[in-house]
Amino acid sequence: MMPSHPEAILRAVFGYEQFKPLQREVIQNVLKKRDTLVIMPTGGGKSLCYQIPALIFPGLTVVVSPLIALMKDQVEQLRQIGIPAVFLNSSLSPHEYQENMAQVRNGEIKLLYVAPETLLTPRLFNLLESLPLDCLTIDEAHCISEWGHDFRPEYRQLVAARERFPQAVCLASTATATPRVRQDIKSTLRFETSNEFIASFNRSNLLIEVQPKTDPTVQTLRFLERFQNQSGIVYCFARKQVEELAENLSRLEFSARPYHAGLEDKERKANQEAFLHDDIQIVVATIAFGMGINKPNVRFVLHFDLPKSIESYYQEIGRAGRDGLPAQCLLLYNYGDAKKLQYFIDQKEGTERQVAFEHLKALRKYAESDVCRRVPLLAYFGERYITHNCGMCDNCLAEEKKQVEITIQAQKFLSCALRSGEKFGAGHIADILLGAENPKILKFDHQNLSTYSIGKDLSRKQWLHIGDQLLQKGYLERTEHGSLRLTPEARQALKERQPILGVLLEERQPATLIGRQITGAYDEQLFEILRSRRKQLADDARLPPYVIFSDRTLIEMATAYPTTPQRLRSIFGMSEHKLKRYGQIFLEVMQAYCQEHQIEPPLPSLEKTKNAATTPGKKPRFIEVGERYNRGLSVEKIMLEYNVRRETVINHLTLYLLEGNSLTNTDGLPKSTLSLHHQENVLAEFKRHGAKYLNPIFDALQGTIDYSELSIICLYFLVGSQAEDTLPDGFPP
Ligand code: ADP
Ligand code: ZN
Repeated sequence: MMPSHPEAILRAVFGYEQFKPLQREVIQNVLKKRDTLVIMPTGGGKSLCYQIPALIFPGLTVVVSPLIALMKDQVEQLRQIGIPAVFLNSSLSPHEYQENMAQVRNGEIKLLYVAPETLLTPRLFNLLESLPLDCLTIDEAHCISEWGHDFRPEYRQLVAARERFPQAVCLASTATATPRVRQDIKSTLRFETSNEFIASFNRSNLLIEVQPKTDPTVQTLRFLERFQNQSGIVYCFARKQVEELAENLSRLEFSARPYHAGLEDKERKANQEAFLHDDIQIVVATIAFGMGINKPNVRFVLHFDLPKSIESYYQEIGRAGRDGLPAQCLLLYNYGDAKKLQYFIDQKEGTERQVAFEHLKALRKYAESDVCRRVPLLAYFGERYITHNCGMCDNCLAEEKKQVEITIQAQKFLSCALRSGEKFGAGHIADILLGAENPKILKFDHQNLSTYSIGKDLSRKQWLHIGDQLLQKGYLERTEHGSLRLTPEARQALKERQPILGVLLEERQPATLIGRQITGAYDEQLFEILRSRRKQLADDARLPPYVIFSDRTLIEMATAYPTTPQRLRSIFGMSEHKLKRYGQIFLEVMQAYCQEHQIEPPLPSLEKTKNAATTPGKKPRFIEVGERYNRGLSVEKIMLEYNVRRETVINHLTLYLLEGNSLTNTDGLPKSTLSLHHQENVLAEFKRHGAKYLNPIFDALQGTIDYSELSIICLYFLVGSQAEDTLPDGFPP
């Protein structure tokens, strides 16, 4: 049974805990049948804005999309979570087309994806006229506007569909936000009660960096080396460059393929598919690549050359990190590239030339800027970005570096220089601090200095950098022999323990900062096992792996080690449908892994640090929930208060019971919907197998009873066994 409330659908059908910004508002607006314009950046979650209403409306929702590849992808993803959806476009065989039409006609379908030219055919109009059509969604709505970057004349005709089906509410969505385009969309589609929702264009999970382009191939290699086994895109200006770089990379055993408009159709498609299916990791491409790429786990975008405009730059980097996990974007920039572009622009004429020139100017200003990159980027979309420090761009990270106090390090360095007799250079001082055992140290007996080996917390490079700064700041001076001598200021600073400010060189590059954020917390070995299992399943089903589970879902699994269906259910992206379909397969992987490595899965209440359940001194969440329930708080109230699903509450209560506590009021527990006879069968299995794991019971019942029912009956079983093996009063009739 499909839940009927947006929030409940979000949890049960999509497996997400919370709406992203504006999703709730948009959904409510659409449900009120008000025409709606949604402007959200890529990855903002536009699809859910019509998919959830589509599940609530009694009739059909039609989604117009210009991108055939994307349609297929969306439909596959929906089917994976049990939503009946089909598409109609020119890629289908006549037979498939007929079949899909028939399914729509029979009212079996909730979402129908079509290309605009398909929608406008009399055949489809007739079909739709025989059906209750509740919602007409126009995806990539900027294609309506000549002012957008991807004008499609067919889109202009869509107004005919509006007129023909006036009862259907219209939702137009795009990731292009310029006011001009927005206005165009609304007037072309004749929105009367037009409601506009504009999300922030800040993609806070993207680490943005611009580097002077000095040796681009080497810079590219260095950058790519940080992303082993991860997906990304390298954009080049020219096809020739694409070919060359892709070949170079392949030769160096990077898993890369080219993509540009000059390739044979077949090869281009194959390369794109290989990327989507995680068969290759890197696509080296011209701007021809990317429209309709829905791959959520793109971890980096590298601009080998200057993009065309800020808008296209934003679109291109926007393909990274759609799953919300950190991703990195690097632009290689030099004056020469700007000159080259200028040359191309000079070949153009009139307004076209003027526009291209303005674009280039804005882009150069962006690349050369030393303020937070997000400020000029978002200003372009009319958004004012105010922050002290975004912490996710090169300029802000450099700024952050200035803030550090290096007093202790300075003291160590200065006193080491002093104790070694002020006769050595920075390299030797660093060696002493690091506790090196080289001949020079031994020769001068420096291993016996009190400062020997007290600086192992920093690298040699960092110590040298501290030395440089002390020179610059006038605490040290260099003698003509190159040795370092303390100045009177340094002696005073040491005596008075004066605070010294400076930069602590980041040993790690920003990319590793990302690596740390993504990788720090999870079990990489398990992740790799889960990933290859996912790949197998995906290949068997001929689907891209992310359609089965997102990386984020696997990362959460590799953090929380859920070995029971209950625990698996609370993982990000774990919808009921996917739990049924793949739960057991992944549980087995994790059970085997936990057994082999003797890992005790942490309690679910400890899994999500964001719930603050792990704050020291705080009770585990399940104890808190159990106690509050006993004090009279209903399950519904608990769900609201903790913003969790019913299953999670059941989970907590189960754990509470398993820990030997009791529940006083069994009347308030969720009721099983099974017949009494079935309930008794299930209870008998619990008696046989115990309540610690549900899968033996699921298996014993041949999978006829789903996990959510089992977990409810499990509660009653546990309550019952407390009352010495008698059925509790609250046992549902
Ligand atoms: P857009 O079309 O705006 O680029 P999508 O609709 O493809 O974005 O959503 C981007 C990603 O975010 C998808 O993987 C989607 O499943 C996920 N997503 C959408 N809504 C939520 C949500 N409320 N919580 C978590 N993930 C979400
Ligand atoms: Zn910044």
